[in-house]
Amino acid sequence: MTQPIENVIIIGSGPAGYTAALYTARANLDPLVIEGFAWGGLLQQTTEVENFPGFPQGIQGPALMQAMRDQAERFGTRFITDMATSVELATEPGGIHKVWVDEDELHLARTVILAMGAEHKKLGVPGEEELGGRGVSYCATCDAAFFKGARTVIVGGGDSAMEEAIFLSKFAERVDVVHRRHEFRASKIMLDRARAIENIAFKTPYVVEEFVAVEGQQLPTARLRNVETGEIEALENVGTFIAIGHEPQSAIVRGQIDLDDEGYVITQGRSTRTNRPGVFAAGDLVDHTYRQAITAAGSGCQAALDAEWYLRDTPQVPTPVGMPEGDLAEAQWAPSAE
Ligand code: NAP
Repeated sequence: MTQPIENVIIIGSGPAGYTAALYTARANLDPLVIEGFAWGGLLQQTTEVENFPGFPQGIQGPALMQAMRDQAERFGTRFITDMATSVELATEPGGIHKVWVDEDELHLARTVILAMGAEHKKLGVPGEEELGGRGVSYCATCDAAFFKGARTVIVGGGDSAMEEAIFLSKFAERVDVVHRRHEFRASKIMLDRARAIENIAFKTPYVVEEFVAVEGQQLPTARLRNVETGEIEALENVGTFIAIGHEPQSAIVRGQIDLDDEGYVITQGRSTRTNRPGVFAAGDLVDHTYRQAITAAGSGCQAALDAEWYLRDTPQVPTPVGMPEGDLAEAQWAPSAE
């Protein structure tokens, strides 16, 4: 098997990945996107997106991702709809990076843009998955407007939970913040802000046991359990937002790319550069503060420009063992049986 050495491989297919693809494609870098099976990132799981500029009437999350993918494809982006399973990232400037897909399919590249995103942490209780998008949500900023006048629940005790509760309180009739301890992880200022809002109440120490769809009820019932007394309480016809944190999808680069304590990729200054030369990172994989489609798209653009400038400015290292001599741009390399 022979294969070309790509200019750029992009791993991930949310707004960051597809924007990086669009920019690198328009720079004639012929990018290859390894987009996973469920391409499109977290926006594939949302309904209407009303806060992405350029769509005054709003747009469905999956339609927005399809449009981003189509736009990248229009300029020649190639896609592999499969998972990147491991990487071997070069340590020297100009070195060739290796990316494996589906265990045994090796791809080579001069630059890699990491855009694997983050997943909402799940409660892992019965009914959560089945009722996702039908009364159970992970993003009040995205979905609160659909719960106008409804009774709602926020699960979690951190800053995200408070922020979501405050946002949701403008739409919902009532917001119950359900948290498993009496103490909150949220900052005092956020907690105080939430406490000052009339239609936000706090239920502690409770956990959600399950979500149940009930016939004739528009929204599910959330069954709660008091962790001290064991008492069960059913909140009927409620929209629930789970805000218990995010998990960056950085497992395949752990040990090679510097990560913070929570597993987010660390980038240098205001750039998208990582600790490995020619490897850049963008989107929710890096950002645990803003986490918006538009900020992810913006950082995908930055990563594309960083990759373009790196390719322009970095001389190639001597031909790696196993590769033919000559211009690496034209090289066809038969990898050893790895
Ligand atoms: P976080 O601070 O890690 O809080 C997660 C919360 O969810 C905790 O209260 C935790 O409970 C609870 N939790 C975790 N797993 C749970 C489970 N399985 N069942 C029930 N509850 C569970 O996450 P975050 O709120 O997303 O914040 C992440 C970072 O972003 C923080 O540094 C935060 O300050 C920052 N942030 C800042 C702002 C702002 O300033 N405007 C807004 C959002 C986020 P325990 O406390 O019992 O562990």
